[in-house]
Amino acid sequence: MQITIHRAEQIGGQITRISTAKDNIIIDLGHILPNSTKNKDVYDDDLAVAEITKGCSAILYTHYHGDHIGLFHHVPNDIPQYIGEVAKQVVCRKYEQLSHLPDEAGKQKYQHALNIASNLHTFHEKQTLHFGDIIVTPYFVSHSAYDAYMFLIEAEGKRILHTGDFRRHGYLSKGLLPTIQKYIGQVDVLIIEGTMLARKNEAILTEAELSRKAAELMKEHKYVFVHCSSTDMERLASFKNATRQMPSYRPLLADKYQKDLLDIFSTTAGQKRSSTGKESTCFKFGTIYMYEDRNIKLKNWMISNGFTMFVRSSEKFHSLLDQIFSILPTSERPILIYSMWDGYINREDTKKEDYIRLQKRFATIESLHTSGHATTDVLCRICELVNPRLAILPIHKEKDTDFSSIGIPSHLQKKVITKNHTLSNIDIEFI
Ligand SMILES: [Zn+2]
Ligand SMILES: [Zn+2]
Repeated sequence: MQITIHRAEQIGGQITRISTAKDNIIIDLGHILPNSTKNKDVYDDDLAVAEITKGCSAILYTHYHGDHIGLFHHVPNDIPQYIGEVAKQVVCRKYEQLSHLPDEAGKQKYQHALNIASNLHTFHEKQTLHFGDIIVTPYFVSHSAYDAYMFLIEAEGKRILHTGDFRRHGYLSKGLLPTIQKYIGQVDVLIIEGTMLARKNEAILTEAELSRKAAELMKEHKYVFVHCSSTDMERLASFKNATRQMPSYRPLLADKYQKDLLDIFSTTAGQKRSSTGKESTCFKFGTIYMYEDRNIKLKNWMISNGFTMFVRSSEKFHSLLDQIFSILPTSERPILIYSMWDGYINREDTKKEDYIRLQKRFATIESLHTSGHATTDVLCRICELVNPRLAILPIHKEKDTDFSSIGIPSHLQKKVITKNHTLSNIDIEFI
């Protein structure tokens, strides 16, 4: 067996290939983070992707973030690609949006990607997929992308767990440890994300705590704009739930794209019952309003009760802000709640100018964010629970961070492998 990991020592551009003597699959085919380097992703063309996917039986995606799925549109048509059912809907809606971009080259590229996205195969939690002698079972995880999975891969008598991106402090994290205990147990090789290694001491709010803090801000401010990821269902729910706590009923506003995504979440996650059979309103987003200057009723409602509006940094939102600011009383200042990683604002190598420009529109800005990734404590728990017989392969981590120093017992520290290595008939290769 061979395990080939591309770009383990960076966050973004995740690709893992698992090969037996007969078959092979790829887990995630990610693009590097857009701002992570001025260079183009070396795999970002049809030829390069044809080369690295050659002879591959299938490509499976843990979730829809670009650093895991971003190269999918280069994959040759004869290789089937798999993703969660709701994740597929989100990807299709995203590429439909991108295909409306004004420039012709971009339009064609994204239209092509949309065609490929609509042909993605889907899988279901805990249902095994067979690719020759490789068996893959997806297990649901909570992450800042909804419908995310870790994969158990079984082949040639070996069991490998690939965690993808995950966390234990989301609304949907309760099943994480029980699922691993009940369905996965001990493995031979653990391939595990290490995003938080570089942020070991960062205080982590649970998503529920974040929602309570959002409600406190909303009690102080009537006119609330929220800048968060349009596809982060749990975060969007945190702000929706906080809005619903307000004594007077406030409308939730978004543009058509965000509204469509929220509708996808309401009709999927919003319909699911909890393990106790209880109906939950957490992911039912209800009616989402789109601002229109001629909708006097909505305008009066917004002015009198306040509102929460999900915004992005595109040009369209600047003109929407112009319109909305002009109807608000000058006595009440609108607030922008920034709910994404602060590196996009204040880290020289990753900052996004359009995010900063959006912030300049507001006199009052509050940052309220929590990570989509597992804390080092949780990474330790996972290592102990699956107690890998052969190897721990850390991926999705910043360079020069050390996985073996997170507090795992010494017998597991010795199993952390970050360089090419052969053990017990498995060739491990880092590219
Ligand atoms: Zn992710
Ligand atoms: Zn990621």
